[in-house]
Amino acid sequence: MFATKGLLARLKDGENIIVAEGYVFEFERRGLLKAGAFVPEVVLEDPEWVRQLHEEFVRAGSDVVLAFTYYGHREKLKVIGREQDIETLNINALKIARDVANKTNTLMAGNICNSTVYKRDNQASIEQAEAMFKEQIEWAVKEKADFIVAETFSELGEAMLALQCIQKYGNGVPAVVTLIPHSQNTTFDGLTYGQACRKLEDAGAAVVGVNCGRGPITTLPLLKEIRQACKGPIAALPVPYRTTTEQPTFQSLTDPVTGVQAFPVDLPAYACSRSQIRQWAEEVKQLGVQYVGLCCGNASHYLREVAEVYGRKPVASKYAPDMTQHFIFGNRVDSDTYYTKDVKRFL
Ligand SMILES: [Zn+2]
Repeated sequence: MFATKGLLARLKDGENIIVAEGYVFEFERRGLLKAGAFVPEVVLEDPEWVRQLHEEFVRAGSDVVLAFTYYGHREKLKVIGREQDIETLNINALKIARDVANKTNTLMAGNICNSTVYKRDNQASIEQAEAMFKEQIEWAVKEKADFIVAETFSELGEAMLALQCIQKYGNGVPAVVTLIPHSQNTTFDGLTYGQACRKLEDAGAAVVGVNCGRGPITTLPLLKEIRQACKGPIAALPVPYRTTTEQPTFQSLTDPVTGVQAFPVDLPAYACSRSQIRQWAEEVKQLGVQYVGLCCGNASHYLREVAEVYGRKPVASKYAPDMTQHFIFGNRVDSDTYYTKDVKRFL
C-alpha cells in the first residue's frame, strides 16, 4: 500500500533513520499541553497543531512521523478525567500521522511507553500494563503504522513486556524498543544498558537503545556500551540539555541561580547549543548509531543539525545559517568599512 521503503529494508541496507521526538515538551512550551500529567490533549483540542508540528519535523529532516500517542494511555487519561476519550485520541493521532507520512513519503510509527502501573513482582499490575499496551498496539495496527516505538522504560521487565505485546498483538509490525537512562548506569532491575538492550535484541526488537532522560554528553558512554553489546541497529534519542557527570539526567539538573530542580519548566537554562548537537551527532554517527534523533526539548533547528551531519539536506536546510551574509560578521566586499572596523568594537 505504501510507496515508502519500510523500516526493516532500510536498516538492512545500512541506511540511517532520523527521528524527531519531543512532542510533549514542544506542545507544553507552546501552551497546548499541561506539564505534570503530560497527556497529549492537543490531539483532541487542536489537532491542526499536531499535523503542523509533524510537517515541521519532516521539513527539518525526520524520516518518521511518530503518532502523538505518548502518554495517551488509559492510566494517564484517568489522571485528567478523560478516560472516555482514549480511543478518539489514539485514532485521531494515528490518522493525522498516517496522513502526513503518506504526503511526505515518510514512515509512520505508533507509540507506546511506560505504563506507570507496571510493578515487576505484581501479576495484576503486569496484566493491567499488558491490557494498556494491547489496545494502543491494536489501534496502531488498525491505522496502518509502519512500525511501533515502545519507549522510556526504566526497567527491562516492562520493556520486554511491551515488546512481547507488539509481537502478540501487532500483526507483525517491527518494534523499536528504547529504555530511559537514569542517573545510575543500570536499569531499575539491575542490568547494564548494554545487557538490557542485548536481551531486547535477542527477543526480536528491530532496533534497541536509549531515549529521553539524559543529555547528549551523558548518553554517550551508554551508547558505546550498547554498541559493543548488540549486533544490530541501535537507537539514540537524548534530550537536548547540558547534563553533567554530577547531574546526568534532565530530572536531576538544578537551576544555576536558585538551586531548585529545573525539570520540567526551568530547563531552558540548560538548553544545548546547536554546535553541541552537531558535535554529538558526529560522534554517534562514527559510533554507528543507525536510528538517531532527539527527545524532550527537541525542536526543528536541532533536528536539522542531526540530519545534516547524517548527510541529509532536508527542506529546512534552505534556511540553514549563513553568517557570510551578515552585515557585520559576514564577508562584505568593503571590509575596511565603518561596520567591520568601528561597529564591531561596540558589540
Ligand atoms: Zn523525552
